[in-house]
Amino acid sequence: MSELFVRTLREDPADAEVPSHRWLVRSGYVRRVAPGIYSWLPLGWRVLRNVETIVREEMDAIGAQEVHLPALLPREPYEASGRWTEYGANLFRLQDRRGGDYLLGPTHEEIFALLVKDLYSSYKDLPLSLYQIQTKYRDEARPRAGILRGREFVMKDSYSFDIDDAGLAKSYDQHRDAYIKIFNRLGFEYVIVHAMSGAMGGSASEEFLAVSETGEDTFVRSPGGYAANVEAVRTPAPAPVPFDDLPAAHVEDTPDTPTIDTLIAVANERVPRVGRPWTAADTLKTVVVMLRQTDGAREPLVIGLSGDREVDVKRLAAQVEPAEVEPFTEEDFADHPALVKGYIGPGALGTESVSGIRYLVDPRVSTGTAWITGADQPGRHVFDLVAGRDFTPDGTIEAAEVRAGDPAPDGSGPLELARGIEMGHVFQLGRKYAEALGLKVLNEHGKLVTVTMGSYGVGVSRAVAAVAENTCDEKGLCWPRALAPFDVQLLATGKDVAVLETATELAQRLDEAGVKVLLDDRKASPGVKFADAEIMGMPTIVVVGRGLADGVIELRDRRTGDRRDVPIDDAFGEVLTEVHGRADATRPDLA
Ligand code: ATP
Ligand code: MG
Repeated sequence: MSELFVRTLREDPADAEVPSHRWLVRSGYVRRVAPGIYSWLPLGWRVLRNVETIVREEMDAIGAQEVHLPALLPREPYEASGRWTEYGANLFRLQDRRGGDYLLGPTHEEIFALLVKDLYSSYKDLPLSLYQIQTKYRDEARPRAGILRGREFVMKDSYSFDIDDAGLAKSYDQHRDAYIKIFNRLGFEYVIVHAMSGAMGGSASEEFLAVSETGEDTFVRSPGGYAANVEAVRTPAPAPVPFDDLPAAHVEDTPDTPTIDTLIAVANERVPRVGRPWTAADTLKTVVVMLRQTDGAREPLVIGLSGDREVDVKRLAAQVEPAEVEPFTEEDFADHPALVKGYIGPGALGTESVSGIRYLVDPRVSTGTAWITGADQPGRHVFDLVAGRDFTPDGTIEAAEVRAGDPAPDGSGPLELARGIEMGHVFQLGRKYAEALGLKVLNEHGKLVTVTMGSYGVGVSRAVAAVAENTCDEKGLCWPRALAPFDVQLLATGKDVAVLETATELAQRLDEAGVKVLLDDRKASPGVKFADAEIMGMPTIVVVGRGLADGVIELRDRRTGDRRDVPIDDAFGEVLTEVHGRADATRPDLA
């Protein structure tokens, strides 16, 4: 400790939003250079490398081969795949001295596809899985929570190459199994959820989420085992119902009713329904947004959904990706007179309309459902407007909020909502990238076929923060053994020379036995040493101090806080047992 490059801080960093960030900075593991850009100090770097080791071992175990590709990449392959533009503002672009365009790799599908194309040409070369542990760059809109969402971060990315769909399914399963092992070893609670395939294209896609209240992802799960990222939740569409007996649509005056609440109040007053009053769920709400395509073109999108639900911005964004969602401004309304603000209805929209404006509805707005909605005139609404009879939308969209209690799409019960941090992603990419970059091999009949790819990521640096987040307590970090930078923090407390001598000797013996010991040999007060040991979070704390006069040292478990005195002669064996786990206590080589 007297030589370690570390300074612990008494104060929280001003920008700390979550505990992991606070403690990693305060205990001298990482240090901010710029927003979303961090330096790893000796303690943090050791944790990062421990995560890497776990990831590397499990990737090697499924036969994936480690390579290392550059982070500085030419524009052309990303142009060919469309991602030079699709990635939008998230991509770090730069130019070399000759004006050539480059980027800092956000993920490497293109470059891996080209590498394999470069060297392989036959089905006999496949299957193949390659991986790297590498620094990635994304100009995140909101870098957050220290290393949890960085603009520079470490990812393990792997890519599988197969001749056919069955091969891809197998490679996918192998990666999925490897990820289960990795996340089990990292030691936090996680869920595997269905995910959106997003800008990547492709089909089967699952995410590994660390369950955490501070997570940015919302996921759902049902008692029957369904689990999905909220963006990927499919709303079960009700079967069409007959509408022959339903009353005809009728337009009513509803002055000053631009909101759902005002509309309900006026509807119940002026057009009361026998039996039960109108509620928000009877209204068809219309939400207008502007989509900005990657080429800059802007196009209005109108979304219809039940008035008792809000649009979930993240779900909507995931549906229209890579286009971006922008607010529909007053000028936009002026440019589109068919849309009467506050009173928009399907009259001006849908397959029959001449406005040409795209109108997509929530799947629950199904054929035969009747609604109160805007009549496309200020101060008027239409009642008993029936989907499939009076209007036909251009399609459906999964943009409505998902609520606790909504039914799971597979019938496995009501959904519960929770939050998580995306730790890993497995993904059947398919042939999109191979096609764009011409990655083909000869099959067994001598015919050229396009290779099918999988892409698999683990957030290595994010894992450091996520584990810290999951394990820290009110005193500081609290590492699981597999990740701790040191096994033991050994404190020499008190001025007696025998204390430091005994502590140094014990540290040396443990070191020789393969135990990683951080010896606190500073000329500092016991209080300072205890506080630092607590904040730094090594799993075992050993105190050589006051008890030495009585022939004992103290062993503390950082997590449980349990303390016990052990005779100095047993100290070495006791610490070994602690470090290697009680199950190993009988191992002769540890005796
Ligand atoms: P997110 O939704 O959190 O932005 P993503 O879906 O864009 O992540 P992927 O492209 O699937 O991320 O990348 C693979 C893994 O890399 C993610 O599962 C995550 O663990 C990690 N990762 C992605 N972005 C970041 C980041 N900005 N900082 C740290 N780790 C990240
Ligand atoms: Mg992802």
